[in-house]
Amino acid sequence: MNWKELISTFDSSTLIITSLSPAHLIKCENPKAKLQIVDFAGPKILSLENLNRQLKIAKANGDFNEIFAIGGGTVSEVAKFISHETLTELNQMPSVLSTDSPFCTSIAIRNFDHIDYRFLVEPKRICFDEDLLRLAPMYLNQLGLCDILSIITASNDWYIRELKRRGTLKCYDTDFVKKKKLIELARIIPEEIRLEMSSLREITPKSISIMINAFLREVYICDVFGNASPEEGAEHYFAYTLEFIGGIREVPHGILVLIGIYYILRIQEFMEYVDPERMIDSDSFIFFLRMIGLLGRLQIFVRENREIVENCLYELKNYAKRYDTFLNFIKEDSYKAIIKQILKDSEL
Ligand SMILES: [Zn+2]
Repeated sequence: MNWKELISTFDSSTLIITSLSPAHLIKCENPKAKLQIVDFAGPKILSLENLNRQLKIAKANGDFNEIFAIGGGTVSEVAKFISHETLTELNQMPSVLSTDSPFCTSIAIRNFDHIDYRFLVEPKRICFDEDLLRLAPMYLNQLGLCDILSIITASNDWYIRELKRRGTLKCYDTDFVKKKKLIELARIIPEEIRLEMSSLREITPKSISIMINAFLREVYICDVFGNASPEEGAEHYFAYTLEFIGGIREVPHGILVLIGIYYILRIQEFMEYVDPERMIDSDSFIFFLRMIGLLGRLQIFVRENREIVENCLYELKNYAKRYDTFLNFIKEDSYKAIIKQILKDSEL
């Protein structure tokens, strides 16, 4: 059954949470479908207050006994929240693969200048339809790779922290050994993705299955690990610095994280804080982005927001103090000098 056939079977017992563009298509397929359109200007508005507002709208929509989330990351988060609060079964059907949100069981809630991960919502089904995903611009689908590629810098971040704390990575503490193994398993994923770069230029059954497979593994590894450390490190904190300190509100999460990966890789390389077995360095990361056709969008963003990007790089260390990150092991003066040098040497 394709997505159109599936939607045509829905009656008022199914609440479809969606955004503006899929809503139009859904209405064409099933004019009687029960729709809740999440009309946010950007994912940054996902505060508890706004999630509760969406919950109120859902409840006012009449009774429903299942939820279908058809959209991107914001829609997925809103649907998870409503599912959790109403104890209703959730089905995810992404119309774009722009983040790993439909695969994650926790809900990312904006809390002033940071993000809290709360609650646990397991979807009953995650459905994919190539024709539906193809309706979204290709670059938006590719941006979902940010939450896979971030494993490169996040795993380095974890290694550096452990090395700094323990003085060695050769130790036999059970919890450490388990986590190290999981980090090693995680870092295979971006390496495999890099080998598939020629397949990731467009939406095909192959590229969809590569991305879904990567998301499922990444999310599973984080679940077993106990938190998002294998895929969320300083590169994500840089994305949050751009959002919360730099005031960049309307740019997809993926663009900010990819820029974060590049600069954090440069810092990690500069500090020689890298695993000698690491295969992806900043040059091959840039080459990968160029090959799949994403590099230009990042360069345009950085050129148009150069002052904010540079200021946020300096601000990052201070902003990220609340998190467990390798940046906390760099002295303030050294950090400033490193950023100065990196900005001089590298232009995105
Ligand atoms: Zn992310």
